[in-house]
Order: sequence, then C-alpha cells, then structure tokens
Amino acid sequence: MNITIWNENRHEQKNPAVSEVYPKGIHGALAEFLTEETGVVRTATLDEPEHGLTEEVLNDTDVLLWWGHIAHDEVEDDIVRRVQKRVLDGMGLIVLHSGHLSKIFRTLMGTGCDLKWREADERERLWVVEPGHPITEGIGEYIEMPKEEMYGEHFDIPAPDELVFISWFEGGEVFRSGATFTRGRGKIFYFRPGHETYPTYYHQDIQTVIKNAVQWAGPKNTPAPVYGNAKPLETISSKDVEEEN
Ligand code: ZN
Repeated sequence: MNITIWNENRHEQKNPAVSEVYPKGIHGALAEFLTEETGVVRTATLDEPEHGLTEEVLNDTDVLLWWGHIAHDEVEDDIVRRVQKRVLDGMGLIVLHSGHLSKIFRTLMGTGCDLKWREADERERLWVVEPGHPITEGIGEYIEMPKEEMYGEHFDIPAPDELVFISWFEGGEVFRSGATFTRGRGKIFYFRPGHETYPTYYHQDIQTVIKNAVQWAGPKNTPAPVYGNAKPLETISSKDVEEEN
C-alpha cells in the first residue's frame, strides 16, 4: 500500500501554537503512525513544485490523505483535475477536517460542502453509527475528544454512501463526522477531527480510524470497466434475420 499524505503546511509556518503541537507538521504526525504499519508513506505539501503531486507520485499512490485550510484557493486547478482523475481510476482519498472546503473535495462532491463552526475548546463525542464498518474496527462505541473545534449541521454534502460517525458537541450541535462516498472506482472517506491547534492526530482512536480508513480506501483487484461500442457476446437472433434479408 503506497500512501501519500498531502498537507497545506501553512499554519505550521505561521503560528507557533501549531508548530508546537506538530513540530514535524501535520503531515509529519500522520506519516509517523501510518509508517508503523503500512510501509511506503510519502508526504507532499502546497509549496513544493506541482504541490508535490506529480503524475509520477499520484500514479504510484494507492491512498491520498488531504489536510488543507487557509490556502485552498492556491491549489492549482490542473492538480485538482489530476487528483480527481486518479480517484475516478481507483485511488482512495481520505479528506481530513478543514479539507471539507478543498477544491478536490468540493469537485468530487458537487456541492458547496460548507458547515457551521466555532472554536471554543468543546468536548466532542464521535458516535459509531455503522458498527459493522471496517473503519470502526478496534474502537469502542464512541470516541471522546476533550477539546475540539465544533463543526455543525447542516453540512452541505450529498447523502453519503455510508455514515460511519455522528459527532455530538458540548454546545449542542451534531455533525456527520465520518462519511464514505464512491466516485468512479475510487473510495472517499471524510473524517472531521483534526483542528491544527489540538493534538488530535496523536489520539489512539483517531489514529486507528485513519489506519482503518487507509486499508478500506485502498484499491482492490476489481475489474476495470470497459466503455464504448461493444460486440455482442452471444448471437443476437434479430440481427441474423436482418442480415439474411
Ligand atoms: Zn479547524
């Protein structure tokens, strides 16, 4: 399984409160626990040429993770199309936290993807609502985060294929915080937690969910669809009659 972790990596440069929590960047923290299990893990960031997402890198990526927030608009449209094409061809995509407003997520969803938010150090409880789902393997009936940013409904996404987590927040809102989608042959998982000033990605259960999601989203050996004009597999009787005439 080849994983590429894409991170905007801007908060880490600008805000000491963030670089204190994530000295190696959010991508570095994600890479650390994903490397433990899965082998080939690359990172890519916005300020690299082609945002680190060259044809070569993407063609060699089974699952792409995406964290972005303040610079969604700086992601080149050509690169977004390149990622979209790979997802449709079967690359898995895991969109984290504020990636909900990334160009790639909005392109794949076809909706605005906006939501309510508030930064007030609130408790979040992510309830598992699809207990048989492979993404929930190894966790309890909920994950509790002592402090998180609030994301609230309405979340402007199309109805998910599967709703895996619903979050409750101390201030009263709820949110569809873990949702799966299929686009072409590609599997997509949106996972809400991960505000840059909190140590979310060091949380054991959060790491478990992301590891599970990588396994779930990875391409499987499934048949490639064939499109266009097609010769019949059987003799079509009506056609025989026409040809005889
Ligand atoms: Zn945030």
